[in-house]
Amino acid sequence: MRIVMKFGGASVKDGKSILHCARLVKKFWKDNEVVVVISAMAGVTDSLVHASKKCCNDPSPGFIKLFIAEMTKRHYEAVNDAVRNEEIKSKVHSKIDKLLDELEKVLLGISYLGELTPRSSDYILSFGERLAAPIFSASLLSMGVDSLSLEGGDAGIITDENYGRAKPLAEVYGTIKSRIEPLITIKKSIPVVTGFIGVTKNGNITTLGRGGSDLTATLIASALNADEVWLWKEVDGVMTTDPKIVPEARLIPEISYQEAMELSYFGAKILHPKALEPVMRKRIPVRIKNTFNPESRGTVIKEGITSTKDIVKALSLIERVAIINISGAGFDFAEIMSEVFERLAENKVHVIMVAQSSSELNLSVVVDESDVGKAMKALESITNGMGSVTCIRDVAVISAVGAGMAGTPGVAGRIFSALGKNRINVVMISQSCSEYNVSFVVKRDEGAKAVRVLHKEFELG
Ligand code: ASP
Ligand code: MG
Repeated sequence: MRIVMKFGGASVKDGKSILHCARLVKKFWKDNEVVVVISAMAGVTDSLVHASKKCCNDPSPGFIKLFIAEMTKRHYEAVNDAVRNEEIKSKVHSKIDKLLDELEKVLLGISYLGELTPRSSDYILSFGERLAAPIFSASLLSMGVDSLSLEGGDAGIITDENYGRAKPLAEVYGTIKSRIEPLITIKKSIPVVTGFIGVTKNGNITTLGRGGSDLTATLIASALNADEVWLWKEVDGVMTTDPKIVPEARLIPEISYQEAMELSYFGAKILHPKALEPVMRKRIPVRIKNTFNPESRGTVIKEGITSTKDIVKALSLIERVAIINISGAGFDFAEIMSEVFERLAENKVHVIMVAQSSSELNLSVVVDESDVGKAMKALESITNGMGSVTCIRDVAVISAVGAGMAGTPGVAGRIFSALGKNRINVVMISQSCSEYNVSFVVKRDEGAKAVRVLHKEFELG
């Protein structure tokens, strides 16, 4: 088989875990062709975000030195634990020195200018993956496996110039194939590609959006006509809901692309919501696997599984959201609608859910809590004094997902009567006509209870 394997987050939190993952790769590589995609070590991207903002807004001379020293220490330690060969070790050390030297200069530049553009921000964020990939590759090399590390651009991931959320261009499939295929077929090597980052045609580094390494993996899989994508995590796979909320939550062995996408959009941390696009067309299955339980089959995300038995297959809960409500009389609603979404899009406010009253006097949108300020400001003057824009905080979105809901009467009835029986008030409802998901809003402190009620109602445990 040809498999693209992605490692990220807690699976690569330190040198020991990188070594463990590299051993897994070596084991599966014996009978398969493998391409590895790696994200930054756990927490590194967040600390780069923090450092870039701090250098821009509140520069202090000691900060950069300290930050670079910490990054050096963390990555050096990872090398020491992950790489078992002195010569290879010192080569990676000097690579890390070179990268961190470059990062130090960029951060200094930001603090002098007091300006952080989306382009320079992407450049800074790219260092997490650029530091991690050589370490992983060196770990493989020190086990006697031929390997080399590639940055997104080297691997052929060419994107547009939408820094922060860059889109791969249509031609990437060809460029990725020409860069990577010879490495696995002729050189019999394991390429280790930095996830999350690409490059513009002019050679500037871009990022694909937070969590974008999943998308790197599926792009490569699609370009190489891989048999499967394996996303390695610290859990067995996709669960019926968060086990922290419902201890009886169960592993879902198979789930369709659409269901997985709905769940990811609605807050279940399965994979980057856009990551399935490249593999769906080619029907390449994506498997979620557990680094701590590698023999388990995990969850397979694949083409259309519509078991009528599982009407509702999974439940997700997003707790940090707010409703923005636009209401008023006497204005042209269609005009207001288009204006609302235009302004929200311009301000990069991500809309999670929409509902509208049929008298056309009321439009409610759910946004992430962190976007409330931006959204309210963007919509401030929208009703021109003829209405109001208000905000309801302390709410949560619950989404019930399952392809078996489509065409099955009575599902919504069961959802809402179970909630009613448990005295949970529903504030807002939405279901699109794909019928793969019913989403609704409740008071935040009733969110977990609502999930428990529905988990029981649909016998998911
Ligand atoms: N390191 C990036 C992030 O934290 C990309 C990824 O993890 O997939 O968002
Ligand atoms: Mg990350």
